[in-house]
Amino acid sequence: MSNHFLPIAEKICTSEEGENPPPAPSHPADDEVEIIVMGPGTGESILVHVGDGNWVIIDCFNIQIGEKKARRPRPAPTQYLREIGVDCKESVKGIVLTHPHRDHAAGLSKMFDECMSPSGEYPPLYVPGVLSESQWKEYFDSETKDPRTLTYHLEHAFNRASENNKLVPVIRSSRLLGDLDCLQVISPTSKAVIKRGQADFRPSDANPNFSSIVLWLEKGGAQALFGADMENHPEFGWEQILKETDISANGQSTFVKIPHHGSDGSHHEPIYDLFKEGKGYIAAITRNNNPRGGHRQALPDEETSEYHASKSLSTYKVGAQASTDVAKAKSTVRTGWISARKKIDKTEWEVQIYGTAVTLTRSAACGGGAGRF
Ligand SMILES: [Zn+2]
Repeated sequence: MSNHFLPIAEKICTSEEGENPPPAPSHPADDEVEIIVMGPGTGESILVHVGDGNWVIIDCFNIQIGEKKARRPRPAPTQYLREIGVDCKESVKGIVLTHPHRDHAAGLSKMFDECMSPSGEYPPLYVPGVLSESQWKEYFDSETKDPRTLTYHLEHAFNRASENNKLVPVIRSSRLLGDLDCLQVISPTSKAVIKRGQADFRPSDANPNFSSIVLWLEKGGAQALFGADMENHPEFGWEQILKETDISANGQSTFVKIPHHGSDGSHHEPIYDLFKEGKGYIAAITRNNNPRGGHRQALPDEETSEYHASKSLSTYKVGAQASTDVAKAKSTVRTGWISARKKIDKTEWEVQIYGTAVTLTRSAACGGGAGRF
């Protein structure tokens, strides 16, 4: 089986240009939390090691693996895990689909199968509870059955999860991972969920971005906000999410996956004000330059990037190299990832970047490579 991520990392780790080349990717220790935000320019996924060899995968995208003629798309998250020696069938304790958009969902069906144990046990598949299980079925029934479409593939994953009692629609205050209990759902909001019970509601009415699963991680001294593609909206967006939750900085530095690729419409300053009460936040932005994803222009928005670059402890961007020329950027799409790791009981995050990930800014106190926060 050929590798994809290790050769990229190897290049950087032996590079003479980098003042502080990052360490080669490895499995975190049992007492470490690690967050890996990965993507090419048109997709994103997050891997979270919550301790003791247990992993959660949030969203999926495909990478091309193999030599020229034998190249095949493979789900990036499970590929990465295999390369650092993880047995996905054993160690992936849950998969989250934040919302059914191609840049978060491509390859999900195959990835779900890759995480099935030899005895046929699937991990839970967490999906937005803005639709009930039967409404998700209705949603897929109303879609085209063309195998070239994303919904065709997603329906397979949803059906298999449902048949195995592993399809879990989640809403605000749901908690993920059973006994591991360290990920809290803070969206879909109660107002978004009320809609599904209304007589005139159709499953296709639910806007995927406003239905996104937003997660809050708290594990020992590690905390993180995974903003999915959530945007601003008075009932379903950030304003309402903050009204309905009591996340707080707890004196720590918080890792934030910036919502919706850093678009202008998803930027909500009160989120980041929350983290002023702690040690500040580390921002990870995923670039998106795919017009098929519904974005007219490449994201992140310049002003949003500048905001985080000036307010955060450090800001990183993952995706194709900076170019607003969509056609050009598409041809240079490669993988990159940001790794943030910390001992569960320590305060500092250790951040490293690989591949197409870049540092937009880091606080003056932190020299070299990526840094400690
Ligand atoms: Zn989206």
